[in-house]
Amino acid sequence: MSIELKNVTYTYSPGTAYEIHALKDINLSIPDGQFIGIIGHTGSGKSTLIQHFNALIRPTSGTITYNGEDIWGEKYDRRTLRSEVGLVFQYPEHQLFENDVLSDVCFGPMNQGLSREEAEVEAKKALQHVGFKEENYSKSPFELSGGQKKRVAIAGVLAMNPKILILDEPTAGLDPKGRDDILDQIAELHKVRGITIILVSHSMEDIAKYAERLIVVNDGEIAYDDAPKAVFAHY
Ligand code: ADP
Ligand code: MG
Repeated sequence: MSIELKNVTYTYSPGTAYEIHALKDINLSIPDGQFIGIIGHTGSGKSTLIQHFNALIRPTSGTITYNGEDIWGEKYDRRTLRSEVGLVFQYPEHQLFENDVLSDVCFGPMNQGLSREEAEVEAKKALQHVGFKEENYSKSPFELSGGQKKRVAIAGVLAMNPKILILDEPTAGLDPKGRDDILDQIAELHKVRGITIILVSHSMEDIAKYAERLIVVNDGEIAYDDAPKAVFAHY
């Protein structure tokens, strides 16, 4: 069971003066249960790459399969895919929109068909998992600190019980304490729930501490894909 990318390319604004080849012939296999770090300079293609994993972006060419099925097949259920492969965006503002924290985190599970009561059970579990305090459940997501917003955004995805959790720079802009907190909780989820974690980060330190596999993206290509130690020996 895995995500497989075969010869995937992605071009923004093809055929125009603004054409950008963001991904070039990517081949990648992501088996269940790994903790993967993705690293690379700004603009190297990391965010474009991970948005292919849950079909938010359709490749310009190449194929992507999830558990052996082409996710761009005509009858493929991409809605289910997006709840199994959860993506937390770099800017939590992009995924927070309800009036209060609890409703926000309930949105995903309700969208999956749970009642509000059932969704609350999942939402509370997820909020607990990311260390978000119950006394703040009724606050507006927009009055929270950066770190708290990140937690709510992560909980919103976790509440759908994804099999794969992708986080795009979850620690950017946080202080060291907040950063360690969030990463420790993610590592715990990996251990306890056995979820595959894909962590995009620009921090070598974070990756070295948590990931068992490191993918280095450079100018739309995979420069290295190996155990962090082996990659650090070159990079
Ligand atoms: P990273 O996440 O590694 O910073 P991105 O995937 O965001 O890299 O960007 C890869 C390349 O694609 C960059 O050259 C970036 O400017 C370009 N790009 C990203 N998003 C868009 C977009 N929506 N429209 C046009 N170009 C984009
Ligand atoms: Mg990015």
